[in-house]
Amino acid sequence: MRTEFRRGASLAAICTALGACLAARGAEGPAPFAVRPKEMQPGQGGYSLPADLQIRSTAKAKEKLWVLAEKLEGTSLSLRVVTIALAGVEAVAMGDVAVEARVLEVPPRPEGFVLEVSPKGFLVLGRDEQSIQWGLLCLREAMDVGRRFIPSCFVRDWPDVAWRGVHCRLPSQAQFKEFGRFVDEVLLPCRVNFAVIEVNYRMQFRSRREIEDPLAQPAEFCAELTSLLASRGMRAIPEFKSIGHQSSAARNHALLAAHPELDETPGLKFGDARLERRSWCPRHPSLPGLLFPLWSEIIKAFGCTHFHIGMDRVFLLAEEECPRCRRSSAWEILAAAIVQYHAFLRGKDNTVLMWGDRLLDASAHGYSRDEGSEMGTASAIAYLPRDIIICDWHAAVRAEYPSIAHFQREGFKILACPGPDPESVRSVWSCAQRARTPLFLGYMATTGVEFAALAEALFGTRSAPEAARAADALRLAARLAWQGKE
Ligand SMILES: [Zn+2]
Repeated sequence: MRTEFRRGASLAAICTALGACLAARGAEGPAPFAVRPKEMQPGQGGYSLPADLQIRSTAKAKEKLWVLAEKLEGTSLSLRVVTIALAGVEAVAMGDVAVEARVLEVPPRPEGFVLEVSPKGFLVLGRDEQSIQWGLLCLREAMDVGRRFIPSCFVRDWPDVAWRGVHCRLPSQAQFKEFGRFVDEVLLPCRVNFAVIEVNYRMQFRSRREIEDPLAQPAEFCAELTSLLASRGMRAIPEFKSIGHQSSAARNHALLAAHPELDETPGLKFGDARLERRSWCPRHPSLPGLLFPLWSEIIKAFGCTHFHIGMDRVFLLAEEECPRCRRSSAWEILAAAIVQYHAFLRGKDNTVLMWGDRLLDASAHGYSRDEGSEMGTASAIAYLPRDIIICDWHAAVRAEYPSIAHFQREGFKILACPGPDPESVRSVWSCAQRARTPLFLGYMATTGVEFAALAEALFGTRSAPEAARAADALRLAARLAWQGKE
């Protein structure tokens, strides 16, 4: 079948040709795929869908047939599935395609797939069910259900990096519909495979009812978000900001509101220039008994295997005012706290993620006090378990981000995390590509705004400029993480 495809044409020309082919058949817009495949060749004609679609699918691939079922909703086309067994590969086939006899090179990478459409039928091959999801999505994007037609094409594609994600705030129950649109209309077409969701105190805790946030959502709602993401092959990772971020400049957040005795600097009054955000005292003996039950509840609700402990921009640590910490260095207190939180989470079979800025020496790397530490906490890095995944975030646009190479040299797996701005996305990606080793896991877009503002920018009419930029940055970051380049 592959001899039917023209060879030697440039990828751009092929994209245009396939786009024109689809446009001529009434498809919307010239670009057939939300993410540009690495290898793509259009063919002659295409496959006309019968009214009764009989699909042959391997058992695992069957889990992903919702991708097609959704597209057929509201049409007269019906879908029947016959299970087939193939060794070492997952497959979905339809029409007169002898899938069992085909020899096609499936990309030897997780999530890679092959899609072939010809006048005889279509075939999606992959090594795992997630590969099949992306292959079927590609098929769905090319499919014109109104005309019951899929133009012939051959696509072989795989992600440039294994981790492709987004960081966002926990939505409210009232925003569930928008979150569903966010997942299906933004994250799915962009081939995202994980979401870090900032929870903090926004879950209704049962173990410590006095720790209460007015914006808290039921645990069942968090579980619902997780299963929605999981059904799309996306991992949900809750984030709980640790040590710092325990207040705004004007009021305490839930933990310190209920337990002011945990405050590292109770004498520091709101309105003081030194006070941006309060910290909990990592050495307070009551802290583990209060904190870990909350984390256990979050882990249970999200059913997670990865937990983000925050740890960005901690500015109050080893303060003179604190009788437990004042004789110690900030770095040793930080290291001991991270090791303790890591041990608890390992006990819950969770891998730890954290922001990397406190582990960087701001002056040595030329970073601002937000992106690196001016308190000597960078020395803590020597004492941390190497299975922690570092989220190296940088909002500023720079020529170089030395920390991306630094963390990998130190033996950490890392995610490069640009700020919510397309220019930051481009500059961080370009540097990350140059500094890449096998420890480079991938890319995580940050949004920096409440979910409501992001949803308004994505689906509404009155978006705030920063939310609109975040939405653009998110799409660009995801595209780069799959395509490897623009
Ligand atoms: Zn203290």
